[in-house]
Amino acid sequence: MFSEKEIQKIRNQFPILKERVYSNPLVYMDNAATTQKPLKVIQASQDYYNTMNSNVHRGLHYLSHKATFYVEKVREKLQKFIHARYSSEIIFTKGTTESINLVASSMDPFLKKGDEVIISCIEHHSNFVPWQVLCKKKGAILKIISIYENGFLKLKDFEFLISKKTKIVSISHISNVLGIINPIKNIIKKSHEYGALVLIDGAQAPSNLDLDVQDLNVDFYVFSAHKMYGPTGIGILYGKKKILEKLHPYQFGGEMIKNVSFNQTTYSDLPFKFEAGTPNIEGIIVWGFAIDFVKEIGISNIQSYKKNLLIYAVKRLSLIDGIQLYGKSNDFSKKSGIISFNLNKLHCFDVGSILDRLGIAVRTGHLCAQPLMEFFKVPGMIRISFSIYNTFKEIDYLFEGLLKAKKILLK
Ligand SMILES: *Cc1c(COP(=O)(O)O)cnc(C)c1O
Repeated sequence: MFSEKEIQKIRNQFPILKERVYSNPLVYMDNAATTQKPLKVIQASQDYYNTMNSNVHRGLHYLSHKATFYVEKVREKLQKFIHARYSSEIIFTKGTTESINLVASSMDPFLKKGDEVIISCIEHHSNFVPWQVLCKKKGAILKIISIYENGFLKLKDFEFLISKKTKIVSISHISNVLGIINPIKNIIKKSHEYGALVLIDGAQAPSNLDLDVQDLNVDFYVFSAHKMYGPTGIGILYGKKKILEKLHPYQFGGEMIKNVSFNQTTYSDLPFKFEAGTPNIEGIIVWGFAIDFVKEIGISNIQSYKKNLLIYAVKRLSLIDGIQLYGKSNDFSKKSGIISFNLNKLHCFDVGSILDRLGIAVRTGHLCAQPLMEFFKVPGMIRISFSIYNTFKEIDYLFEGLLKAKKILLK
């Protein structure tokens, strides 16, 4: 557990936390949307342009070699970070959304009429729409795992839905709305018994959990850099080598070809087969510094600190008369630092606007999960999500802010 002083030292690494919002100190609680960036990440971006900007894997000149070297270093860093077997199993993409679209598009030739795809009702639109579109196009059937009132997946439902017809199961590791950590290892094991592939949307996981894709035995695992202190516009698709080799490329162009002639083209080997065009070179290299930041603090330290914030916040917020917390559980080992709620019958935008005036940044609305809003029969929710730089005092300030919002809005 970190002392207040240690957290202050970490906070000092984030210049944006010194910003003032309508003359109040910034209280940033929208980390599930994107985290803030530490100084070493911000500086790495400038260093990249000052010392190595050039295109990768093409030039023979010094700068091109240097940039290529660092890009490939980060690929290896990510390989170690998620315990992948080969670095060529790490494909750079724009982020979680593009990674899922890549897999959905590349699966197209392997899906036929009557085949089935399973997702769940808590999925982010990024892990919902690509499968819905693919199924419509192919005449395949999209099956959706339901949840209990407390937001936990109905595993019985899953066991009922899975069959030899299931070609792929795509589930989030941690819900971006409810913060629930899904039992993905069981889901993966069960899916494999029926010969289905599994994709895990890990967008909320890498700064919360130790990841071991080999231990999970997952076929595809995807996440973005920007929710783990890194830059936007960069993420990965991890895929098992054997499976990636069988999949068709997602996009075509430079970098992904071996030979192009007037009549035909042969593709590069992994990972380049899936990396058409100039990649986000800066993003990749800068991401390496964000990974270092996470490793220096230690994922398990981040995890346990955030858990303490979560427990404290749930306790405080539960004291507010008329608050409705979603995805509530007494088992905090199944939860990450995300809380979504509504206050009395107030509209989430009204509450969010008052919090904003107090300098508190929260998420409001459908949270990119409209089917889940439909399940709870609400137009939207208010979401707070923690990071390593949040404090217990900020939670107290939020608590006061919510009381203030009630007073103003319930008049
Ligand atoms: C943020 C998020 C996404 C989308 O990530 P992008 O970086 O916007 O592509 C998908 N799924 C979950 C669970 C998320 O939290």
